[in-house]
Amino acid sequence: MHEVGIMESALAAVQRHAVENRAERVERIVLRIGTLAGVELEALRFAFDIVSRGTVAEGSTLEIESVPAAVYCPACRREFAGENGGFIFTCPGCGDLCGEIRRGRELELSRIEMS
Ligand SMILES: [Zn+2]
Repeated sequence: MHEVGIMESALAAVQRHAVENRAERVERIVLRIGTLAGVELEALRFAFDIVSRGTVAEGSTLEIESVPAAVYCPACRREFAGENGGFIFTCPGCGDLCGEIRRGRELELSRIEMS
């Protein structure tokens, strides 16, 4: 379950921020996760519960912003929604196969609310 590793590095960053801002508590953590990031959200929440235990982030709210996948077609010069996963997508405009993923692989800390 690589979600544990993801959560560990996210929480390490959260703890750094908390120390820098002399925060006593972390209220909310917002992660931005693309639909192509290969992350199982349920597993990520489960990992958060475990990894946050005993840290400044224990008991905080984990919010996940999902970023829909967008793929660029150079022939049509437009983006289209890359649904149903995978790495190669068929352009609905011209039918070409496109692999230029513009959005959807995000895996980042978006916001931390502390007190
Ligand atoms: Zn196209």
